Amino acid sequence: MSSLIDVENLTLQFRTDEGLVTAVDDVSFSLAKGEVIGLVGESGSGKSVTAKSLMHLNAHNAVYAPQSKITLHTDAGEVDVLSLRTARELNVVRGGAISMIFQEPMASFAPAITIGSQMIEQLQLHGDMSKARAKEISVEMLDRVGISDPHKRIDQFAFELSGGMRQRAMIAMALSTQPKLLIADEPTTALDVTIQAQVIDLMKDLVSEFHMGIIFITHDLGVVAQTADKVCVMYLGRIVEEGPVREVIRHPKHPYTRGLIHALPRLDDLESPLTPVPGDIPSPLERPPGCVFHTRCQEILGDVCKTALPHDTQLDATHRVACHLHDKKEASA
Ligand code: SF4
Ligand code: MG
Repeated sequence: MSSLIDVENLTLQFRTDEGLVTAVDDVSFSLAKGEVIGLVGESGSGKSVTAKSLMHLNAHNAVYAPQSKITLHTDAGEVDVLSLRTARELNVVRGGAISMIFQEPMASFAPAITIGSQMIEQLQLHGDMSKARAKEISVEMLDRVGISDPHKRIDQFAFELSGGMRQRAMIAMALSTQPKLLIADEPTTALDVTIQAQVIDLMKDLVSEFHMGIIFITHDLGVVAQTADKVCVMYLGRIVEEGPVREVIRHPKHPYTRGLIHALPRLDDLESPLTPVPGDIPSPLERPPGCVFHTRCQEILGDVCKTALPHDTQLDATHRVACHLHDKKEASA
């Protein structure tokens, strides 16, 4: 499969009154066309900041380390995303090649403008087309995502739609420009379970129909299991494990991934209390030395974990983990 986006050594800090805060630390991954990748972790793990970097969309106080590189492969050639500066250049990725949808669709829609006007404006910004054509496409997209009566809905405001319908309208708007990559940031978290499943099915259909890539951001490994081909588990700005979804869920190698899996509700046993990962994610201002997870790790090995950063161990062609448990295995193998 040909690569759609390559993220290499992405490292990002925010300048704050308390000093530089590391949000993303040496993150690398690739996504192919037609592939769905899940970025999983608790809030504060750097998932959203990583995703926003792909559109060069982080706040002005963001500082990218010089080795950070994001390459988007488009029909017109490679785009070095972090070197984009002007609004015109940035439009190529923002809402053009890449679209993003959020947990709260109200954040995507301006409250005083109709859904249709916003969709039309976005289409005209990214493609040379008449207003009439843009409206036609908008109606078609609303219909595609299962919104009944799209001719009427298009003249409504976001607040006039139900939560599930707003989510669909946001997906329609995000897909109307036919992006190569859709970033979905906790898109189903605020929805009830039935609508959640519908939205997930809808997204999966659209991926195969438009042959695009999706980055699905969530704290819920269960949602990733239903949607993604592969998963990157993030903790305090680092990817601690990456692999095919089934493989990672069946044979998790990182203690943090194991913790997330234990915290999943089991369909065959809804009575037992969930076992969350004990403890809290540390403040990014107090990043632990050594392995960033060592303050919560149930399998900590001792001083090595408190002092030495674990590097990636490639377990096979597609599965990697960053944990000293696996350094050892490799040494004794
Ligand atoms: Fe736990 Fe050590 Fe592995 Fe970190 S490196 S996850 S502290 S065993
Ligand atoms: Mg987030």
